[in-house]
Amino acid sequence: MEQSIETVLKASLSFNPYIAALPPYNAGMNVAVARSLSGRDDIARLASNENPDGCSPAVIAALASPSFEPWRYADAACAALRSALGEKLRVAPDRIVVGNGSEEMIAAISRAMLVPNASVVTVVPSFGLHEIEPLAAGAMVVKVPMTAVLDFDFTGLERAIAAEPRVVFLSSPWNPVGPALDRPALKRLLNAVRPGTLFVLDEAYFEFADPEGPDGIEVLRESDVAYVVLRTFSKAYGLAGLRVGYALCSNAELARVIAAAKTPFNVNAAAQIAAIAALGDEAWMKASVAGIRTERARVAATLDRLGLRAAPSQTNFLFFDCGRDSAELAAALLRDGIIVKAWREKGYERYLRVTIGTPAENDRLIHALESSVQR
Ligand SMILES: *Cc1c(COP(=O)(O)O)cnc(C)c1O
Repeated sequence: MEQSIETVLKASLSFNPYIAALPPYNAGMNVAVARSLSGRDDIARLASNENPDGCSPAVIAALASPSFEPWRYADAACAALRSALGEKLRVAPDRIVVGNGSEEMIAAISRAMLVPNASVVTVVPSFGLHEIEPLAAGAMVVKVPMTAVLDFDFTGLERAIAAEPRVVFLSSPWNPVGPALDRPALKRLLNAVRPGTLFVLDEAYFEFADPEGPDGIEVLRESDVAYVVLRTFSKAYGLAGLRVGYALCSNAELARVIAAAKTPFNVNAAAQIAAIAALGDEAWMKASVAGIRTERARVAATLDRLGLRAAPSQTNFLFFDCGRDSAELAAALLRDGIIVKAWREKGYERYLRVTIGTPAENDRLIHALESSVQR
């Protein structure tokens, strides 16, 4: 029988094998699905580490102002935002690249730095894109597991880093586990970095960490390592839906090559205006973070009482071993209208990550956990 031209064309497609083989990113359940599965309207979204307080009213005001012109192409260089960031961080704007979320910067770094069979070091469990984006570039990813006490394995990391991978991706504070590298630990890892390695420190949760802890930008500045520090407006500043994050690079040439790997109009006009407004109202962000940190301690104490000991967290989430496949507990919580993230990485299927929500959402989580643990 003759094949249709469509079938022939389909059969002759050859995909980029690295892309075709990528594992899916676990982006979490959407609210409509959660509503239909739980039969509840009031869904508590505790799966994506969003800010339960929303965002600064200055952001909403800026988006309603005449300076927001949706019909214009946004500034491809993000000059005003980079200049505001440069002032805040005391670095030259030509070392900053702004992305459509810091996610996009992880992709751009991978495109800029990696070729097939290059090696990359990260941890497991990890933020999915620290593995997925290098795999998309054909790299081989070495994953150093966390220790039995839910901390970084410093010896293991030191050894893996010293093998001179092209890129190291680490988040500190660490998503999904929670702890942060203190200054001596960060210095110890930096000492292991060889000249051919780019050290990427993803500080998506920087604002939630102990104020006495290190500022990765300062520690890296004191080192002679080639680095990128990633930060985002998605978490503490509450702009997850607008997509804006940035890469602070150790030098302008590195920033130029990373910028070359992104799309030209990657950061939309609303995102640029909103991020500038958010930077102008740090007081809102600090008050929100203070409340979330207080709630984090309260939820952690309750988990402890229930025998679900969470890893020490310097973030806006908690990560714990629920003693059984975490998908079961996640399903039980969903019946109460609560979305959480059951971890699916191999070897970590008993772990659950919950975002700290509003006090009322956290109460709901606590009640639901109490009844499902007793069940
Ligand atoms: C949330 C998160 C990001 C992504 O942030 P966006 O700026 O929203 O893309 C990056 N890294 C880590 C570790 C995160 O948890």
